[in-house]
Amino acid sequence: MPDTCTLDTVTLDGSQGEGGGQILRTALTLSMITGTPLRLDHIRARRAKPGLLRQHLTAVQAAAQICGARVDGAALGSRSLHFVPGRIRGGDYRHAIGSAGSCTLVLQTILPALWFADAPSTVTVSGGTHNPAAPPADFLIHAWLPLMRRMGVDMDIELLRHGFYPAGGGEIRARVTPVAALKTLHLCERGTPLQARAVAVVAGVPVDVARRELTMVEAAALGAEVELRVLPAREGPGNALLLVDQHSEVTEVFVAFGERGLPAEAVAARVIKAARADRASDAAVGEHLADQLVLPLALARGGSLTTATLSSHLETNMEVVQRFLPLRFETTKTAQGHRIAANPAASGQPSSSCQSQTSFCIPPGVI
Ligand code: ATP
Repeated sequence: MPDTCTLDTVTLDGSQGEGGGQILRTALTLSMITGTPLRLDHIRARRAKPGLLRQHLTAVQAAAQICGARVDGAALGSRSLHFVPGRIRGGDYRHAIGSAGSCTLVLQTILPALWFADAPSTVTVSGGTHNPAAPPADFLIHAWLPLMRRMGVDMDIELLRHGFYPAGGGEIRARVTPVAALKTLHLCERGTPLQARAVAVVAGVPVDVARRELTMVEAAALGAEVELRVLPAREGPGNALLLVDQHSEVTEVFVAFGERGLPAEAVAARVIKAARADRASDAAVGEHLADQLVLPLALARGGSLTTATLSSHLETNMEVVQRFLPLRFETTKTAQGHRIAANPAASGQPSSSCQSQTSFCIPPGVI
């Protein structure tokens, strides 16, 4: 296997669809795994502050480090990036975002590449672990990780210290042992209810806030055990209410964050509403898991899920994946909402300039 590849560059427009950071992260991951050079313009064009923020820049730097990539445009605020990947190397990596930018999103960028590295890896990322508009660490650990393990991934994820917006300062560590190939996954239903647990976390915020949130959860009769977790004040200020809703096939994690001026009851109401909406649906996975499963299903060369909502994150992520891999996503309207199926492309060709699957710079059988 060569250290660098000669595949055609995939050129993406970062303003397409959702127009956010996920286009960058998915493209980086697939650039590394397929060995395809990436050109990305108009990065995060649909966001109020376009271009690379600290979280996105850290993802670029982390990706570049693990595969020895040549990169142009890796700077704060940059709206264009040229990324030429090399061979993915396992190792002991540490990345500091330097703000409350999401550690989980940086991890989701590089972990799939390390699944196919030449050696085991340990990755420690510091920054935000509980941020609005990103998966909280608990989501990665309880919702995403078990599904990745079912697909054959050998990985552990540990929350070492909480980091809330805007202070950050949290830390997450992941350990990965490479796999030969992923197993397909079909998630048609979430299965039977097993356990629900609500955790109210406070750091440097009055404990009464957490108590009031948990009182609301108990009153909502969701059948959830409740837990109050008081962290050292130095890990805050921050407050999060998490509901981990475990079913035999899928675990979902709902979260809401305390904000100045927002009553604890309103924080709890957000989580309760999200959990009730999810339980009222017959679909297997919620909006967030759906868009985060697209890439692993594609790497497994097949699989399917049902989800109630066809979000713009989901649609855009499917588009990006199809630019790198010889596969088509099929979306069908069903009684449960939507069924998404990842099918190997009939011609064996991706929809982009990428070459046939045999020329991917990864171990045969992975893609
Ligand atoms: P920006 O939108 O500023 O570019 P970003 O880099 O944070 O930000 P997005 O493209 O918006 O990226 O992607 C956010 C990701 O976080 C998506 O995968 C989305 O499903 C996930 N996410 C957001 N909120 C939650 C949540 N509460 N639980 C789990 N995942 C979440």
